[in-house]
Amino acid sequence: MNEYTRPPLTSLACVHPACELFGQTGQGNLTIRKVYGRDGIRYLRCRVCQYEFSERKGTALWNCKVPEAQAIAVAEHLGEGCSFKDTARLVRVDASTVRRLCRQFGRHAWQFHDDRVRELVVDSLQADERHGFVARRSQPVWEAEMIDSASKFILSHVQGRRNGELIRALLADGASRLLNRHNIVFFTDGEPAYAALFPELFGVPFARLRDTHRGRRPRLRYRIPRSLAHVQIIKKHAGRKLESIQVRYRHGSRKRAQDALYRLRHTTPNTAIIERRNATARCMNATQTRRTLAFARHPLAKLALGPPGTGDVDALRLQLVPHQSHA
Ligand SMILES: [Zn+2]
Repeated sequence: MNEYTRPPLTSLACVHPACELFGQTGQGNLTIRKVYGRDGIRYLRCRVCQYEFSERKGTALWNCKVPEAQAIAVAEHLGEGCSFKDTARLVRVDASTVRRLCRQFGRHAWQFHDDRVRELVVDSLQADERHGFVARRSQPVWEAEMIDSASKFILSHVQGRRNGELIRALLADGASRLLNRHNIVFFTDGEPAYAALFPELFGVPFARLRDTHRGRRPRLRYRIPRSLAHVQIIKKHAGRKLESIQVRYRHGSRKRAQDALYRLRHTTPNTAIIERRNATARCMNATQTRRTLAFARHPLAKLALGPPGTGDVDALRLQLVPHQSHA
């Protein structure tokens, strides 16, 4: 057994959902049944429920079928923006192995993000959409993202056709990860769907009092509290040249937006942080590079490379107990 590559037993948990110690680390319930394979992987037994399982069960590396060092190298290469074929040549594995591992790591990265990115305390957010393709030039798939302006942490990433549904999915997912969705300043481009959906997804719902119980229930309305604001930055281009920038305070108070800008040490409302992220994402993902030959051939491959963290080796080693969906 290699103590340098295997995590300590106290960081692992029983993966049997019916077990009373399910998902709880450091309980002293795990014993080593045997050590197997080239990587010295431990097969564990839970003393409480007698269930036996591989220590990699629940991690991105479970059942990866190639030596662990190679699987990790695949993740690192993909994380640095190498194409599938580049990765296969550099790591000396088959291209089909890269494809399979990419999806496996992507699934894990999504689940990891969904599990851990909860109840965030954030002062301001920026959002934008990036253009890309799947399979052929005629099949555009957009990536929409929401980022915390202060830490540059990506809260939310969704993919799909560029329409209101994509924006709704982004806002709903991003808002659900905040501790208080009513206390943020949101900076976006001029896309009308942002302004139209903002009250519903970040505002405070209220129903008007009814004097009768007959008839149709009145539609929910949304109030924008003082702690909430949405600012749109509309850029007009003449060819490649930026002609003008227009700032529109769409919802909430101008004061709230300016307080957030002051804390960021910004002088004017902007979407510079998400635009910077767009540029990085284009470098770090072969399928997102402009005018590339390496665009994603399969929607799943694009989805797998989407979440920031597919190439994060520490996250790949983390054991996520079988997912229980959040209500
Ligand atoms: Zn157990």
